[in-house]
Amino acid sequence: MPRTDAVLADPRLVAAAGRLGRAVVKDAVVRAQRRARQGGLDPGEVADAAVAALPPYPASLRPVINMTGVLVHTNLGRAPLSAAAVEATAAAAGYTDVEFDLATGARARRGRGAMDALARAVPAAGDVHVVNNNAAALVLVATALAAGREIVISRGELVEIGDGFRIPDLLVSTGARLREVGTTNRTSYADYRAAVGPETGFVLKIHPSNFLIEGFTGSVEVAELSALGVPVVADIGSGLLVREPLLPGEPDAASALEAGADLVTASGDKLLGGPQAGLLLGRRDLVERCGRHPLARALRVDKLTLAALEATLRGPATPVHQALHADAGLLGERAAALAGRLAEAGVDARAVPGEAAVGGGGAPGVTLPSAAISLPERYAVPLRTGEPPVVGRVEGGRLLLDLRAVPADRDGEVLRAVLGVGG
Ligand SMILES: *Cc1c(COP(=O)(O)O)cnc(C)c1O
Repeated sequence: MPRTDAVLADPRLVAAAGRLGRAVVKDAVVRAQRRARQGGLDPGEVADAAVAALPPYPASLRPVINMTGVLVHTNLGRAPLSAAAVEATAAAAGYTDVEFDLATGARARRGRGAMDALARAVPAAGDVHVVNNNAAALVLVATALAAGREIVISRGELVEIGDGFRIPDLLVSTGARLREVGTTNRTSYADYRAAVGPETGFVLKIHPSNFLIEGFTGSVEVAELSALGVPVVADIGSGLLVREPLLPGEPDAASALEAGADLVTASGDKLLGGPQAGLLLGRRDLVERCGRHPLARALRVDKLTLAALEATLRGPATPVHQALHADAGLLGERAAALAGRLAEAGVDARAVPGEAAVGGGGAPGVTLPSAAISLPERYAVPLRTGEPPVVGRVEGGRLLLDLRAVPADRDGEVLRAVLGVGG
């Protein structure tokens, strides 16, 4: 059995230790030696086996091809960053002037480039602030504007976002009290009017971003709420900054502010298509109260987030935007071409029409016409556990690989992955 030190001196493993860390490489060597000792491997093949078993990336997070048909999939990291955002993130990763003015040599406002880009994107906002995610934005607003006081909210908007995360619980955790008004299906202006008083911190309007209530329903829009004479905060969820014609039911920051919202909160990594972040936009005095609250420091974003957010706001169309606007006819052509190549290779593959969705990140009930490759269900596990992992969805005993969230230049990888599963 070759000694561990001797195997670790293999130039491929020396290089790998520089990239992945020595402990990871040593672990692969020890496991290969164990296999050899048990007779599963020739002792001369230990180094080769260790090289083959090395993890592909320095962290355990792996890039995945999302063929679920869900564009903003929380389990798959929500929005993929644009190439511009990735480049900006890499540039900011080392020492960077995030809080420093290179011209004067003095301290400067942290993240001013990202704040400026956000303010430009939504001119109706008097000021902007960025925190870790929308949940953090809500915590900050509730703490700064309503701790010890009341947040007036409709019973139809007491939302659970997912994985047990409930917005009402989050709000109450700040020391604010909820003043629930109306009913699950109907809330009127009079309900709000009767609840607003000296104890009111603000009225909160939450966009039900992952469910629809249909039938005998009624709710009050931001424009009407602004007549109540107390601050109106609109949690729009998905982070659309301006109207998206394809998603007419999805609120956007500019429209909410123009309708009279005093503050808007939103996520950065849903339909905005950027990094995980929470956006606060609106009346200057209220944004300042939030930004100056001691809690703001605990919720502040990292330089990598600021870089990615600024590039997302200024840069070219994001992958989420491109997936949303992908032409269904072209998706069908790609699916047909891929299924044709697979069928030629003897795979039971067909191109089928698909239905994609924005996902928990927004636009509940909206289906986007799409196209998919239909395969036998037994392909699901090997594709998911392959490299790169390809994640589809199983429906009616078939695995559907939906193309809407896949850029066209990755079709070759999809083809190779399916062919790699073999008969
Ligand atoms: C997604 C969502 C949140 C939570 O946002 P995070 O950025 O995940 O913290 C809050 N409110 C609404 C309406 C949402 O859709």
